[in-house]
Amino acid sequence: MVKSIVIDCHADTLLKKYLEEMMPLLFAERGMKFHASKDLLTQGGVDIQVFAIFVPPKLEKIGIEVSLEMITLAKEMEKDGFILIKSKKDLKTIENSKNGIGMVLSLEGTVALERNLQLLPIFYELGIRNIGLSWSRKNLFCEGTGLTQDSDEGEGISVHGKELLEQMESLGIIIDVSHLNKKGFADVVKVTSDPFIASHSNAYQLCPVNRNLTDEQLMEIASAEGVVGINFYPRFLSQNDPQSVSIKDVIQHIKYITNLLGVDHVGLGSDFDGIGITPKGLETASKIKNIPPLLEEEGFSNQDIEKIMGTNFKRVFNRVWK
Ligand SMILES: [Zn+2]
Repeated sequence: MVKSIVIDCHADTLLKKYLEEMMPLLFAERGMKFHASKDLLTQGGVDIQVFAIFVPPKLEKIGIEVSLEMITLAKEMEKDGFILIKSKKDLKTIENSKNGIGMVLSLEGTVALERNLQLLPIFYELGIRNIGLSWSRKNLFCEGTGLTQDSDEGEGISVHGKELLEQMESLGIIIDVSHLNKKGFADVVKVTSDPFIASHSNAYQLCPVNRNLTDEQLMEIASAEGVVGINFYPRFLSQNDPQSVSIKDVIQHIKYITNLLGVDHVGLGSDFDGIGITPKGLETASKIKNIPPLLEEEGFSNQDIEKIMGTNFKRVFNRVWK
């Protein structure tokens, strides 16, 4: 059994917590449940969870306020035993203690920064360590892949976007290209010298949707020494009936990417609490512990499994964070 650190690089649990707080009746009525609560993460053996701050499109006008409220909810989670990680030192402490679950905060989309980029150091102070530059639509800095299959035709990183990337680099914030369009991705490759990640994206060759990454893009991530986190959303794993998609499809994407890039550039980015359906065998974070035995069956060594389960992402965190 794998004992080294396990990292999931993307969950939308804070959005669900926000909805629970703002609309408790609707939350209860729809029977909404968490995929990645403290207990479920503990059962699944997850040591570090990256929680995204995602502002839904209808709330973008109050995006700064919503983002701050979600950070407040994250701070409240510290009372439940989550430990906010803001530095390499914190990462080491979590690794050594094995007590509590480390949480890393990321922005998914840059709504909170569009009106005033000077807010970036404030969000950094509050704990933001990774930033997904876009979420689907166009923003001041870049353009997303869009929500439909063939909408990836937009512009690359804007002048403001380049300024954002420079500031992120000097603060030590990781660039996340999941949701970014093709031109934007190519610009990130040109502009940054740090490793960057795709926190929750899969292989386009296995599932051709525009949220997934082409072989060329996967190779660019590897040459930058970055990591791709496998997304568990059935529609990004396979074009088969979503009800038939299972944990085995996750293993297929891991195998495909490791065949292409070696074992140093793949990790997990579940998208738990942001997806309406989950694969069979990976219904909640508690099932993450079922991934290593399946990788072992596929012939991955213990060391390879440790890399995939967390040490690859840990490597990037240590490279970019202060
Ligand atoms: Zn997402």
